[in-house]
Amino acid sequence: MAGLQPVKGTYDLLPKERALHRHVSETARSICERYGFNEVITPIFEFSEVFSRTLGETSDVVTKEMFSFVTKGDDQITLRPEGTAGICRSFISNGLQQETPVKHFYYGPMFRYERPQKGRQRQFHQVGIELIGVDSPQADIEVVAAGYHFLKELGFADVVTLELNSLGDSESRNAYREKLVAYLSPFEDRLSEDSKKRLVTNPLRILDSKDEGDREIVKDAPLLGECLNETSQAFYDEVKRGLDMLGVPYVENPRLVRGLDYYCHTAFEFTTNTLGAQGTVLAGGRYDGLIKMMGGPQVPGVGWASGVERLALMLGEDKVKLPRPIMVIPAANDHQDEAFLVANRLRQEGYIVEQGYSGNFKKRLNKANKLNAFVAIIVGMSECNEGEVMFRDLNTGDQVQVSVDGLPALIERAKG
Ligand code: ATP
Ligand code: MG
Repeated sequence: MAGLQPVKGTYDLLPKERALHRHVSETARSICERYGFNEVITPIFEFSEVFSRTLGETSDVVTKEMFSFVTKGDDQITLRPEGTAGICRSFISNGLQQETPVKHFYYGPMFRYERPQKGRQRQFHQVGIELIGVDSPQADIEVVAAGYHFLKELGFADVVTLELNSLGDSESRNAYREKLVAYLSPFEDRLSEDSKKRLVTNPLRILDSKDEGDREIVKDAPLLGECLNETSQAFYDEVKRGLDMLGVPYVENPRLVRGLDYYCHTAFEFTTNTLGAQGTVLAGGRYDGLIKMMGGPQVPGVGWASGVERLALMLGEDKVKLPRPIMVIPAANDHQDEAFLVANRLRQEGYIVEQGYSGNFKKRLNKANKLNAFVAIIVGMSECNEGEVMFRDLNTGDQVQVSVDGLPALIERAKG
């Protein structure tokens, strides 16, 4: 039965992987909170329009990767492929323009119908931030710095590279589009099928093509930087100055364009060469026209999203350990209830406590080792007095008799 396998491109996160995963998302949350971003949760699905109108009808995400379905009520629904569009929809729905600047953090599953491979799933998770309502470069600087701080906190400062570019304002991009089309048109026959279409619909997207042939052609294309008008250049210079000031290292990549349609000015990606082909771990930029395009007010925004699975892969499995429990063991089966009561009491006090459930004393002690317990508490040993239990530090093997009231002090000492 096919139903016994997870659906292609999806997978289960068992406790160890989940712990690793949570380390990534919790680190993101706590760092982003320092920058004033608080968590929101928007729905996992939205009306398809929320994505098709904003991500650009020509983007890969919209043309190929969306998980869409029609509800019994005939609504066209899409499982969200990314977070920004939903956050902006929510900004409009909740009338948040009264409260700008709005600073949101999010974490959750995203869905894209892609060819699964290492670091690329059909259901994956992103953390991300959006700063809405600030049009000065200060916002871009703060957003990029928060991303860097997050990756640094995970220990990746030396293995990621921040690539930075400016896409300019719409005047600059229009000027560039003309130049680019003039350059690409003679190569039209050699472009991939997708890029032939993009030449008409959205030529900038060709710069982001993963097709080898396209890349070869694009290599010598004119650069967007040559078309930046004065305002756009000043904006870009200010972002760079801010990053220099804060000590956030970057390299300029004049060919960096983002896969989605709604970006302007700042575009950036943190990449690594430790993950093979799937090298981008955090990416974002400024999206001043997006909220208006969705039917809301003209409010600017800037943000990023980061792939949790890719960062978890980079951390490696050993990086995060499950918490070590305390094991409570009855010396013999007729002390089961007493053991349960001791376990219960320690749990009320906040400790992580396991019981062996079955088997003799020795078997349960083996289980304690398997669970990586750091303490065993043996209940009902004949040498113990009334109200006492045996406390065994499993790191040192030391053993003492102690009243149940005296346990927390010994446990704290054993924690070290
Ligand atoms: P890529 O070029 O790798 O397809 P993208 O440009 O589509 O990335 P974004 O839309 O910018 O990616 O998403 C931000 C981050 O989310 C990526 O940098 C990556 O870490 C992660 N991500 C995107 N798609 C997937 C996926 N299918 N599986 C796992 N992580 C993903
Ligand atoms: Mg992609």
